[in-house]
Amino acid sequence: MKPQGVLIAGNWKMNHTPKETEVFFEKLKIGIQSLDALAKASLDNEQIRVCVMPPMLCLQTALTKTKNMKVTIAAQNVHFEKKGAFTGEVSGPMLSELGINTVLIGHSERRQFFGETNETVTKKINSLLSQGFRIIVCIGETKAERQHQETESVLKKQLDAVMSYQALSQSQSLVIAYEPVWAIGTGLTATTKQVEEAHGFIRSVLTNKFANKSGNIAAQKISILYGGSVTVENFADLLHCENVDGGLIGGASLKPENMIEFIKIAARSSS
Ligand code: PEP
Repeated sequence: MKPQGVLIAGNWKMNHTPKETEVFFEKLKIGIQSLDALAKASLDNEQIRVCVMPPMLCLQTALTKTKNMKVTIAAQNVHFEKKGAFTGEVSGPMLSELGINTVLIGHSERRQFFGETNETVTKKINSLLSQGFRIIVCIGETKAERQHQETESVLKKQLDAVMSYQALSQSQSLVIAYEPVWAIGTGLTATTKQVEEAHGFIRSVLTNKFANKSGNIAAQKISILYGGSVTVENFADLLHCENVDGGLIGGASLKPENMIEFIKIAARSSS
C-alpha cells in the first residue's frame, strides 16, 4: 500500500483534437462505470487518483466531459507571469478561471524544444504555488548524463531548483515525476533497479531538504511518479518498486481502454 495512494497521470502532449477529447472521455466514463467494486472504491476514496493533461485547446471540453467523474484535468504548461506581452502563452489566472488547479511543469520536451531551464522551472513553481496550484514537476537525466554516471548530480541540481522555499512550505501541493529523458517516447523503460535507485535517491534528497523544517514527514508525503514508456505491460512491475507512487504516462494514456487498465492494475497492486 502506497502512503499517498497511486496517481495515474496521462500527458497527451500535442495529441487529440477537441472532438477526439469528447470521444475519449465518453469511453473513459463507460470504462470507469464498468470497473469492479474494488477499483471503484479505490477511486472513490482517492487511493487511486486519475489526472489527464490534454492540450490547452481541449481543456474546456475535458472539464465539461468529466464534470461528474473522479478525474482531474490538468494543463501541460503555464507561464510564470500572470499576464503580459508573452505571445502564445497561457497564464495561471486563465487556467484557474477555467477550473484547472493542477499543472505540469518542466517536462523534458519543454526543456529540450522550448528552452526551459532549471531557472524558469523555479520561477514557474514559485509563481504557481503562490497562485494556489498543485504542480507536477518533471526531472530526469539524459542518456549521455546516465552514461557519464551523472544521474544523481543532475537529479540533485534539478531538485535544488524545484525545492525553493515556497515549495518546501507547500509540499502538499507538489508531485515529482522522475522521467529519464532517454525513456520518454522511446519504448525503452528504465529497469526496476534503475527506477528504485533513482526514486530512492530523490526521496533521500527530499528528506534532507526537509531536515531543517518539519522533519522528513513532509518529504515522505510527496508523491514520486515514474515516467518513460510506461505501458499496461510494465505498469504493475513499476508500481511494485519502492518509492514509486504512480506514473506519468504519455503515449499509452491516449487510449481510454489503457487508462482503465492502469486503474485496474493500480487497484490490484494496492489490495
Ligand atoms: C511523458 O509524456 O512524460 C512520457 C513519459 O511519455 P511516454 O510515456 O510516451 O514515454
